[in-house]
Amino acid sequence: MMLSDKVAIVTGASRGIGRAIALAFAAQGVKVVASARSAEALESLVAEIEMQGGKALAVVADVATSADADNLVAQAVAAFERVDILVNNAGITRDGLLLRMKNDDWDAVLDTNLKGAFFCVRAVAKVMSKQRCGRIINISSVVGEMGNPGQANYCASKAGLLGLTKSVARELARRNVTVNAITPGFIATEMTEGMTDKARETLTEQIPLGRLGESEDIAHAVLYLASDQASYITGQVLGVNGGMYM
Ligand code: NDP
Repeated sequence: MMLSDKVAIVTGASRGIGRAIALAFAAQGVKVVASARSAEALESLVAEIEMQGGKALAVVADVATSADADNLVAQAVAAFERVDILVNNAGITRDGLLLRMKNDDWDAVLDTNLKGAFFCVRAVAKVMSKQRCGRIINISSVVGEMGNPGQANYCASKAGLLGLTKSVARELARRNVTVNAITPGFIATEMTEGMTDKARETLTEQIPLGRLGESEDIAHAVLYLASDQASYITGQVLGVNGGMYM
């Protein structure tokens, strides 16, 4: 993949998909700046990467706070002198039917999933524009394309990410910075753990490939979009969903 010695920031790296992305980058020789709000989980990830001979830095940040996003990028540059890749992966759900959805549930999800990505993109765009190269990968969701009952806030945030992706792709293309989105289907992580067996069974029936995805399925797509081989791809939405949405 020729990613060796590149520097990647991964938000939401303390568990689930973000952790798998961080480990996949590290295995390719990428210097990883792992970020989330849980310091302990980040430290254990960094220790794991270092044990395997890789380089990593933990930065505690709440992406919904613009100062934290600015500080995250500043710390990455201070440690590794550049930022080649940003993966906006941090995300939350606060599900509920529309008529019962609280203002707080709407705000928390939009602030983390969409505003958080905007803050990180804006902060890193300055660095990548100066470098005249970079890769930004936004982790959206299949439900941002399809909609899902009980997830108006989450789907709006994930659909918003697609608009952000395409607009910023157009703005930064001249600087040789590509911006793409991945729309995962249902992936087995803590986020989907709460599903009942019955719900999981019904869901699996709707997936042509007949299984939930693994975090590594998303990590492999991220590696590709971050690689030199993907240098002519920008403003695109890559579905990694087992065929559940075509
Ligand atoms: P998890 O709930 O397992 O992990 C979410 C990650 O985001 C954690 O590392 C969490 O860390 C971090 N995070 C949450 N809020 C913030 C915040 N305000 N600032 C910084 N970090 C934050 O989720 P998944 O791994 O399943 O999901 C990862 C991404 O993939 C999300 O954007 C999700 O929407 C998306 N996705 C997931 C799917 C799935 O089926 N699992 C399907 C489609 C998309 P901490 O709590 O330590 O801050």
